[in-house]
Amino acid sequence: MTNPAQRRLTMLVAGVCALASLAAGAMVATSASADSGAGAGVGGVSVGVRPAKPLTGVVIALDPGHQLGNSNPAFATELSQTRWNGTIVKGCNTTGTATDGGYPEATFNWHVALKVRRTLTDLGATVHMTRSVNSWNAWGPCTWDRGKFGASVGADFMVSLHADGAIPSGHGFFIIAPAVTKGWTDDIATESRRLARAMIAGMTKAGATPSTYISGATLVWNDQNTLNFADVPTVIVEQGNMRNAGDAARMTSRAGRDEHARWIVAGIRRYLHR
Ligand code: ZN
Repeated sequence: MTNPAQRRLTMLVAGVCALASLAAGAMVATSASADSGAGAGVGGVSVGVRPAKPLTGVVIALDPGHQLGNSNPAFATELSQTRWNGTIVKGCNTTGTATDGGYPEATFNWHVALKVRRTLTDLGATVHMTRSVNSWNAWGPCTWDRGKFGASVGADFMVSLHADGAIPSGHGFFIIAPAVTKGWTDDIATESRRLARAMIAGMTKAGATPSTYISGATLVWNDQNTLNFADVPTVIVEQGNMRNAGDAARMTSRAGRDEHARWIVAGIRRYLHR
């Protein structure tokens, strides 16, 4: 995934999928407006006006955190790369956490991201993802490439999906936003904080529980590669605590992951006011 040719291919595939889905959506919208035409006189609704998809024109970068193969010893060299991020020298990427039962964070993030992408695309948005697989035979990309990804695809903003591995008694989600680091995040820090506040408000209203162990469900940090290398507003969503039994039960069920996806979409729509 760090190979540029591969990344171009991934973006191309994502673009094709988005177009196919838009075409399918257009067909649905056509038949919907035909149906609503029967009662179109009521309330002054004009016949033949197709309802616009609310997120048309919005470009969103989604970053499903980690990669399953980051645990694969075959990739130890790649993962041991380091870079200065404006605050500290940090590594390429990590394995991520897991539930006590062994369900990996990389896989959880991946499945939620796929569902979020599908929903946002159906709403008219263009969505690009930082990785195209969740595989034991793949690693990365490095967090500095994830950070730069949003700007590289012309995204309006980026949401990075993660899950925490904290004390078992704590549960709920929180957001990590970039602190102001001169020459690094001073261009995106304010807007990223706005994105963070909107995510918290939107997710909470949709039913997600704010963290019981992070005050205000917000951390403002200056040492995260994904945030420090970003050139569009970016936040990290720690979607829950994989070491908490209740959060883990939700994360390991398909219905639970769909719920997580719904919360993320609600946060994004809150930010966009649409
Ligand atoms: Zn993570």
